[in-house]
Amino acid sequence: MRITIDDHSGFCFGVIHAIETAERYLQDHDTLYCLGDLVHNNEEVARLKGIGLRVITHEQFKLLHDTTVLIRAHGEPPSTYDIARQNHITLIDATCPVVLRLQQSIFDFHHNHQHQECQILIFGKKGHAEVIGLLGQVDGQGLVISSEEELDRIDYTRPAMLYSQTTQELEQYYRLIQAIQDRYEASGNGALFLYKDTICRKVALRAEQTAEFARQHDTILFVSDEKSSNGLYLFNICKKHNPNSHFITRAEQVLDLPLSLAESVGICGATSTPRWLMEECAKRCQESASEENFSL
Ligand code: SF4
Repeated sequence: MRITIDDHSGFCFGVIHAIETAERYLQDHDTLYCLGDLVHNNEEVARLKGIGLRVITHEQFKLLHDTTVLIRAHGEPPSTYDIARQNHITLIDATCPVVLRLQQSIFDFHHNHQHQECQILIFGKKGHAEVIGLLGQVDGQGLVISSEEELDRIDYTRPAMLYSQTTQELEQYYRLIQAIQDRYEASGNGALFLYKDTICRKVALRAEQTAEFARQHDTILFVSDEKSSNGLYLFNICKKHNPNSHFITRAEQVLDLPLSLAESVGICGATSTPRWLMEECAKRCQESASEENFSL
């Protein structure tokens, strides 16, 4: 059995930076608070908890004083920084530079065009940490659009500027842009509609890379967490290109899979899947292949 781990799978540089920042701090300290899960993967969160990371909610954050808190790659709204100042909390800011640039871009545009009553639209998931951080740049006055079904919420008599959460799908974003443009044209008001492509290519390119990887193997083991939306999205791509794809969250689950006839097994995962977990799955595959050979 040939077992290959996909080189494109696993953490993006933003998440790697946040995890390494936490690990560095915890080499010299017993505890570090982190505002929300550092990554959407229970196995990795458990590992980080084991070395002293304590995940807290925003409600708990408000009650802290004189301590240190990590901000994860998704970023935070300005109100979080205000609370930290008031409560003498030292922030270790691991916001991804791509998200920081997007926050700055939204902030600048909003403050330069406030007088034109321009609507700020954000294509994203309501309640997602990154989206909350982006809305904070416009004092909560932006409109979050999650799908084409919500386009009636836009006021087509006023100008609008559209941004995207960094992890949205490219194709879906461009379909949405076209649909909004059509509605502006149909309204005949002549109001200006602008957009900016703010999707992170580290994630956008994964779809095609995952499809290619899935086609190259007899069987695919897709390693992710059920709460990772990026994981569910990429797993569906695997399924489409290789019906023999299996979703697993832990290495032990490899033993329950029918792998005996597979000549090549490909192991891949989401942007939130740690490399060590995919390596553990590969090891289990190897062990189960050796046991099969032995029993024949
Ligand atoms: S997906 Fe892109 S924007 Fe988001 S944390 Fe990773 S590198 Fe940064």
